[in-house]
Amino acid sequence: MDYSSLVSRVSAKAKNIISSRLPGLQTSELNAFGQTLKSLSETPLAYEDSHLQDKALEILPLERLYSEAEEDAQKDKIWGLQDHLIRRLLRWFKHDFFTWVNTLPCTKCNGNTVSVGARRPTYQERLDGAGNIEIHRCQACGHTEDFPRYNKVGILLEYRKGRCGEWANCFTFLCRALGSRSRWVWNAEDHVWTEVYSETQQRWVHCDACEEAWDNPTLYSQGWNKKMSYVIGFSTEGATDVTNRYIRKDEYALPRNKISEPQLKSVLNEIKHTRRSLISPEEKQALQDQDEKEFLELANYQGLLKSGIMAPRESGAGEWTKARGEDGSVP
Ligand SMILES: [Zn+2]
Repeated sequence: MDYSSLVSRVSAKAKNIISSRLPGLQTSELNAFGQTLKSLSETPLAYEDSHLQDKALEILPLERLYSEAEEDAQKDKIWGLQDHLIRRLLRWFKHDFFTWVNTLPCTKCNGNTVSVGARRPTYQERLDGAGNIEIHRCQACGHTEDFPRYNKVGILLEYRKGRCGEWANCFTFLCRALGSRSRWVWNAEDHVWTEVYSETQQRWVHCDACEEAWDNPTLYSQGWNKKMSYVIGFSTEGATDVTNRYIRKDEYALPRNKISEPQLKSVLNEIKHTRRSLISPEEKQALQDQDEKEFLELANYQGLLKSGIMAPRESGAGEWTKARGEDGSVP
């Protein structure tokens, strides 16, 4: 039966009813965007590797982070100790651990380099988790530097460089290593960040390692003037469409035309179902209760005119953010 022609003609309410009756979509029936979501949903699975988590805990300055967080928790009771710990992790990650890379400095003469293209990774580079190798050429001496774009957290713990992709990947993993439930949040346009679950506030909290941003979900739209279509949070517990948390005014919403809404709902449900297949009925029920609470929270943002905190993007060279229209300079 061809549901797509049907759902285009019925109301939103009817769409929900129909989509809840759609059979589970087989991979072959999914369009490219649906396939992409399924493949992206595997990213956070790597965060559960206990050996990698141990390695991370050896690298993290735990004593310092905990003592800072305890001090903060004395002064600010709105958030719990674990929340303060993640906030301290944000600060440490940005200032003491990771480096933002537009182009690498020349290792021969320390001159400035420019990007002159990319090449495919070698077999070994691919094994190390490099998806792509950018080539940066020195403007002074002509030497070229390879900039591997790593997507494996184990490698990133050592390499400690990159752009928002590497930052969000490694930071979300470190939140897991520190015991927070965390989501790797993917935006269909070009950004990724993190959400952690606050047990104290009983809700998912926006975190952006590149910006040292905490609980500032309108940063991208109202702050950077960024328009977005889909924002999906992936975790070991499933996948959730969290777009409404980040887009609270229609003017920042891009058309959602990459997949039908019932199909999107179906693929996210399928991911959730798969991820939760091995947990106890009690845990499953608890997660479902949280899902429902979050659903109401997200639905409540729709149409609400909330003024966001205006903040230009901190990470990235000025020109780069300007070119993307994210410095607030583009109306
Ligand atoms: Zn050079």
